[in-house]
Amino acid sequence: MSEKFFEAVSQVLGPEAVDVSDAGRASYSSNRLPGGDRQTDGIVFPSSTADVSTIVRLAAEHGVSLWPTSTGHNWGMGEFSPVRGGQVIMHLGKRMNRILEVDERLGYAVIEPGVTFRQLRAKMAELGDKFMISGTSGPPDGSIIGNAVDRGAGYTPHFDHFGTLCGMEIVLPNGEIFNTGDGALPNANTRFTNKSGFGPLLDGIFTQSNFGIVTQTAVWLMPRPATILGFAFSFAGDEDLSEIFELVRPLKLNSVVPTLIKVTSGGYGFATEDTYPYDRTNGQVPLPDDIRRELQEKHGTGAWLVSGALYGPSVGALQPTLDKIRAVFEASGKATYISHKEMLDNPIYKIHLDTYSGEPTASEVDMLNWRPGGGATWFLPATPMIGEAAELQHQTSRRILAEHGFEYFVEFVCSTRAARGLHLIIFNRQDPDEVARMNSAYAALVEAYDQIGYPIGRTPTDWQERAMSRLPVLQQVTHQIKAALDPMGTIAPGKYGIS
Ligand code: ADP
Repeated sequence: MSEKFFEAVSQVLGPEAVDVSDAGRASYSSNRLPGGDRQTDGIVFPSSTADVSTIVRLAAEHGVSLWPTSTGHNWGMGEFSPVRGGQVIMHLGKRMNRILEVDERLGYAVIEPGVTFRQLRAKMAELGDKFMISGTSGPPDGSIIGNAVDRGAGYTPHFDHFGTLCGMEIVLPNGEIFNTGDGALPNANTRFTNKSGFGPLLDGIFTQSNFGIVTQTAVWLMPRPATILGFAFSFAGDEDLSEIFELVRPLKLNSVVPTLIKVTSGGYGFATEDTYPYDRTNGQVPLPDDIRRELQEKHGTGAWLVSGALYGPSVGALQPTLDKIRAVFEASGKATYISHKEMLDNPIYKIHLDTYSGEPTASEVDMLNWRPGGGATWFLPATPMIGEAAELQHQTSRRILAEHGFEYFVEFVCSTRAARGLHLIIFNRQDPDEVARMNSAYAALVEAYDQIGYPIGRTPTDWQERAMSRLPVLQQVTHQIKAALDPMGTIAPGKYGIS
């Protein structure tokens, strides 16, 4: 079935559009999740929207399902691996990686799926740094579109990556091309600048779903401030989280701090610089508290590191606001102030500065080496900006992870009303016992968070179908949409539990 499909694609689009070699298939099958690698029959590489449309039509004709993906750099979320095995990978980013336009008057860039954070950052530099992109702490060569359509997020005022897209071009499961928003009118002059035009706002249904393939979009850019002044505070006590949340909330709600504010557990920092000290624990896991405290001390992370940045014309202009923020935190009697200069000099603090400045950084990715064996997975619930709620989540996650032999590494990325509670769980993927514990830890986290009323959000491919099965009405509605748009199951059946 798929053999004929690959032949047809190769015939119509040329042999460079297909890879069915053993080596090629092997290189696209691995990931870091506990559910194992996913074999694929082959990979297709469109070079244009027209190619995507052709491939989709051929897939439907041959009864093949496609797994569209941009760069497959979403480490710990699934990489190139489809939710269900046996799907043909469509690697959009390999040949569709052009920055099609930068509008410097209105501040947007029109990009293809393969455009990476690093690439768009470099383009901004080339144009004189008038604009900044919303950076990432993930791999710099990850796709901006891939991240946005999976509803990944950043750290600057443009943190809502999906929210910064405008005028998406989408290839539907029948091969037709659909432009969202004002783009529905072919000659619209407002396609990339106006979101709320006529009719239902459909852009969102193409995120965390399988209703279409995004082939280009505008991404809005933020004017780069003349001065970016970072600040951080460390807190020594595990029990300080609740108080920290209460201090952070008014700073965001009243727009005192323009960036998001990160509240990061010590391990989420020191794991970028250190590896698990098996020699000191006689091979035992998880990390004992005394060694954790020692590492927190060694790397200056505290039990919690709070950070943010101010934007303005000069340091002098920002100083009064910084003084106010210092006063807020120092009044707690528990915060140790870390200056912008100190942040520049410490590799862990520097990650924070980079993310607030729209500078892609590879340093945080070093966390993946904390344990050997290459396993990593994310657990991503949201947290209301209330101390008590954050503390309940903290207790719940720390307990479940410890029971299963894992460290509690979390970063709360705080916005006005909610934080993203980024949990990264590093495990040895070569050790079957650890893989089994990882699977039960994840199931236990989902169950416990459901019970306390905090559902998970963005989900690694291994758990998407199970996560959707808890939500019967959403499952039914998305199933109905899927049946209407994609009765043949041409695009990624099973993705986010939609089929
Ligand atoms: P990253 O930028 O992190 O490398 P990926 O390319 O791996 O992101 O994509 C993340 C998720 O988004 C994957 O589940 C993939 O299926 C989906 N996705 C990525 N790009 C597109 C696209 N252009 N159209 C539709 N879905 C996409």
